[in-house]
Amino acid sequence: MKKIVLRVPDHQRRLALEMGAEVDPETGDLVVPEGEYVSDYKSWVAAYPYINIRAEHYWIFAAPCRCPGCGVDTKYYGYWVPEEHETEDDYEYDDDLDIEMPWRTVGADLRLTYVKYLTPSVLAEMTALTDGYFLDTEPDNHNPYNPAPGKPYYANHCHTCRRIITDEEMTHEVGPLGNRIEFYPVGEKFEANAGSHVSEGLFGLPPGND
Ligand SMILES: [Zn+2]
Repeated sequence: MKKIVLRVPDHQRRLALEMGAEVDPETGDLVVPEGEYVSDYKSWVAAYPYINIRAEHYWIFAAPCRCPGCGVDTKYYGYWVPEEHETEDDYEYDDDLDIEMPWRTVGADLRLTYVKYLTPSVLAEMTALTDGYFLDTEPDNHNPYNPAPGKPYYANHCHTCRRIITDEEMTHEVGPLGNRIEFYPVGEKFEANAGSHVSEGLFGLPPGND
């Protein structure tokens, strides 16, 4: 697994080590320890990929759906975080003032949409299940709903024709098939930059989350 390297000024090195940063034996760099939140080390992460959602564990779900492009039966994959997940909103973070808002718990489980960043370990869990979920650099093809037009985001693609399957299409298509959704529990930390979407009972709940 790719390690997240920390850029720590010499005078903060001791502080970073006390916080738990580890020394990569191969490079000598300080790195985020495996199994810990990258966001806890954010002031030392180069080009910090603003993380706004995190959780102690999560699910990947696979929902059967029909490809709106070629019509084959395929699956829509996504991430689902438990109600104990934490969020930090963009508008409450100010780079110039270096104001850090505390993480807070919303108290609802969410499936995530419009994901712009995933930590390498979280992405690896998904790519082990499907090759159709990846960062789409032309996300406006077939998606008039993209809330940030032109901005790449992680999206599902049909396993046959590779057309993007949008969240809006999946929500519309999948309703009656909700009881056929598969949940894959992952007992590791989750971190992402994403929009979010309350489940609204559409799919029921992941097993063990009632
Ligand atoms: Zn297709």
